[in-house]
Amino acid sequence: MTFKSSNIGYPRIGEKREWKKLLEKFWAGKLDEDTFTEESKQLRLSYLKKQRDKGIDLIPVGDFSLYDHVLDTGVMFGIVPTRFDYDGGGVSLQTYFNIARGTKGAPAAEMTKWYNTNYHYIVPELNESTPSLVHNRPLEYYREAKQELGIEGKPVLIGPISFVLLSKGYAKEQFNDVVYQFLPLYEQVLNELGEEGVQWVQFDEPALVTTLSDDVVNLYKEVYEALHNAAPEVNVLLQTYFESVTHYEEVTKLPVQGIGLDFVHDRSENLKAVKEKGFPQDKVLVAGLIDGRNVWRSKLDKKISLLNELAQAVDKGRIIVQPSSSLLHVPVTVKSEKDIPDVLFNALSFADEKLDEVVLLAQGLEKGESAIQLEIKSSVKAIQELNHSPQRNNKQVQETIHNLGEAKRKAPFKVRHDLQQKSLQIPFLPTTTIGSFPQTKEVRKQRLQWRKGELSDAAYETYIKEEIKKWIDIQEEIGLDVLVHGEFERTDMVEYFGEKLNGFQFTKFGWVQSYGSRCVKPPLIFGDVSFNTPMTVKETIYAQSLTDKHVKGMLTGPITIVNWSFVRDDRTKTEVANQIALALREEIEELERNAILVIQVDEPALREGLPLKEELHDSYLKAAVYAFKLVTSSVENETQIHTHMCYSEFEEIIGSIKALDADVISIETSRSHGELIKAFEDSTYERGIGLGVYDIHSPRVPELSEMKRSIDRALQVLDPKLFWINPDCGLKTRGVEETVEALKVMVEAAKQTRGKYLAQKN
Ligand code: GLN
Ligand code: ZN
Repeated sequence: MTFKSSNIGYPRIGEKREWKKLLEKFWAGKLDEDTFTEESKQLRLSYLKKQRDKGIDLIPVGDFSLYDHVLDTGVMFGIVPTRFDYDGGGVSLQTYFNIARGTKGAPAAEMTKWYNTNYHYIVPELNESTPSLVHNRPLEYYREAKQELGIEGKPVLIGPISFVLLSKGYAKEQFNDVVYQFLPLYEQVLNELGEEGVQWVQFDEPALVTTLSDDVVNLYKEVYEALHNAAPEVNVLLQTYFESVTHYEEVTKLPVQGIGLDFVHDRSENLKAVKEKGFPQDKVLVAGLIDGRNVWRSKLDKKISLLNELAQAVDKGRIIVQPSSSLLHVPVTVKSEKDIPDVLFNALSFADEKLDEVVLLAQGLEKGESAIQLEIKSSVKAIQELNHSPQRNNKQVQETIHNLGEAKRKAPFKVRHDLQQKSLQIPFLPTTTIGSFPQTKEVRKQRLQWRKGELSDAAYETYIKEEIKKWIDIQEEIGLDVLVHGEFERTDMVEYFGEKLNGFQFTKFGWVQSYGSRCVKPPLIFGDVSFNTPMTVKETIYAQSLTDKHVKGMLTGPITIVNWSFVRDDRTKTEVANQIALALREEIEELERNAILVIQVDEPALREGLPLKEELHDSYLKAAVYAFKLVTSSVENETQIHTHMCYSEFEEIIGSIKALDADVISIETSRSHGELIKAFEDSTYERGIGLGVYDIHSPRVPELSEMKRSIDRALQVLDPKLFWINPDCGLKTRGVEETVEALKVMVEAAKQTRGKYLAQKN
């Protein structure tokens, strides 16, 4: 059989999040293991069936997971940290979930971002175990698909080099040796698959699109040669995605039978390479043509032209069409959406619709464009209509965007700092929080009732006001210096703003997996973004009316909004970020007019948006800094701009952090305080800064001595006159009692530290 269409991976969560519900029921002890296993199998099979019924030729098997595919790869090699129960052999379901979720006595394995997506994977800890093949997982799922559905599936697994690069627990110099440890295990997997008669195996090697040293490139040669020799009868499909491959010539020379390239997120580099450097005669090109990372329908005419271009370098018979990446990163189907206006709805494509597009293109490739004429027309029409819609043609926004000038505060930091000291009268070593206070069950219940229409606007507003008042009183009593209103009116820091700005659309079922059973529903930024009505002013000035201290205004920054949304693809992300920035600037100016003189713009997602290739970092960071400054630079010198970032690995971006020119930055640090302090030894930071003095991710209330120590350490490298004392992130996930307790300890630690300094001075 010749294959024309393929898929890389399918979403796990189900049309109505059946998967999530199943997992959570099991975790809650409401399902026994057998039932759970059976029901998850039925889900898995239904996904395979769906792909088959749509006409996908090469259907991935083994991409399904009960938590995370990196964890799956680890446990098939017996990688289990010693803090969990395990004595060799196949890893039990209980242990599997324990690694992912932790137990009372053993913390969960670390989680981190899967390349530049918002999916988080479980980081394998290689230091504690010697790998061995304890479960040929791809083989099991291959057999299952064949037995149950007669599907000749394509087993999928993470390739050895990417896998080791994604793991931790070894020194850099040991990298090759660690890969060699895994190599025979991969050979065995492949061998057994070969014996079973498997035709194609997909090895995901996304590391190939990142910046790689020559050593790693050479290791690729060695590893894939060894794999080929181990099972020459199996066709290996080397799969890359999210960017162009960094070493095209070397990659196309590897002894594999197919190469999967992303032709959507490659900035046309893959296309250029294929055209200029050719594509080997003996390999299949698996062309990622349909965007696996975004929700827009494809203009099929454009895709057909792209295919035709490829067909000039590779004969048609050796091209397979597929999405640009796993469909894990998009929602399941647009069919469930009932409330989206037609113009937008018709231009959307989620996972299921994307597979239809793949099959259409494959037909177009095989039978000629005329075979899919109608579908081409309809796709072009849908996109055109959206492009011509008033929401995408806000003249005023576009004019402003095309005439943007410099974005710069009126005076340099030193001048602003003196002015702010005088006018704001903020004490030495000030204490504050990051913005949110506990979103209790009651807060969520009230909001839900209000959304359902069971609670009037007025009643909801009164409730929010009561909550604000309660927490202003609490903050006063604790003795914090700069107060916040608490963010009770917000569910989510992006959704809240998206609902109030023009150009956004929210979906009902547009969930995507974030980590484990946790799903997020990113908004669609589909139109020109503009300011509509004040978003935070009412709550902030109400809070300010209750106290003589400053209440800090609280906004989410443009880069975070862009990085946590599905963004229109007819404009660059930079342009969209600037549109958002201009809208937020109006909000800041409105706050300032209302005498809110301390304003924080959160950018927790700034760092995670860093491109996969180092040479693209600079332009990304420049654009991010510009958008931030666009939001924050029009205010008076006396207005103090804060920002907050949720991570501490920022050595690499410290230059950009300085360039933001915020008056005060707060950074999450508690879990890696030592390292962060070291970063400041190497690089000075001469603006206001608050290093989180305690970790809000745990309910534990820290001891006074711990907090004092953490302040003291920071003050060894940072100027006390510029130092702020705050927790390391927002408190919305914490309980009320522990929050109050911890903040009391924090304020006491601040007091004692101040005392110490003043005594030293005298
Ligand atoms: N102001 C936000 C909060 O406190 C910041 C959250 C974040 O950075 N993730 O909740
Ligand atoms: Zn944070």
